[in-house]
Amino acid sequence: MVINEMTDKECGAFLTSASLGRLGCSLDNQPYVVPINFAYEPGYIYVLSTFGRKIAWMRENPKVCVEVDEIANQSQWTSVIASGGYQELPEPQYTGERAHAEKLLGKHYRWWQGALGERQLRVGDDLIAPLFFRIHVDSMTGLRAVDQSSDLT
Ligand SMILES: Cc1cc2nc3c(=O)[nH]c(=O)nc-3n(C[C@H](O)[C@H](O)[C@H](O)COP(=O)(O)OP(=O)(O)OC[C@H]3O[C@@H](n4cnc5c(N)ncnc54)[C@H](O)[C@@H]3O)c2cc1C
Repeated sequence: MVINEMTDKECGAFLTSASLGRLGCSLDNQPYVVPINFAYEPGYIYVLSTFGRKIAWMRENPKVCVEVDEIANQSQWTSVIASGGYQELPEPQYTGERAHAEKLLGKHYRWWQGALGERQLRVGDDLIAPLFFRIHVDSMTGLRAVDQSSDLT
């Protein structure tokens, strides 16, 4: 197995094709990681959410990261980490950006279910206002493991 560093272009292509990742945020030296669905375009990661701990924390500390991976097996996998800043997209200031986020997220089948389904389960009603945010991506790193054993035969 060989592990290669990915270029920014390769990281971007990987994030474009992915839709599920782990959002990491922190407050008062306490990390918090949750799975999220997202849509990537160069420079930004868009997410639909509802209000809860992660939003409260990111409002306090906007420094966040998203980790995305695809693991075929122990010797063939890809993992990308994008780090950057949280930006909420409230109406009416960001109506255009929200529509853009909805369009991007809509490319993924039932993209909204992770966010709203979990919240309805907890609160027991469906009158929850959706909240859009995006992460301005400041840097990306990626590692890709390639199994070369088949090349040796
Ligand atoms: C496949 C998948 C896709 C998802 N996609 C989205 C998405 O696109 N957008 C979105 O907002 N949410 C999504 N979720 C739900 C998300 O992971 C969080 O559970 C949810 O957003 C609530 O987070 P919160 O910080 O608001 O929690 P709160 O409701 O404020 O609850 C905080 C408390 O609940 C616990 N908790 C919260 N979430 C989890 C969890 N996932 N696992 C274990 N404990 C938890 C925390 O540790 C804490 O104790 C997805 C979940 C899954 C499994």
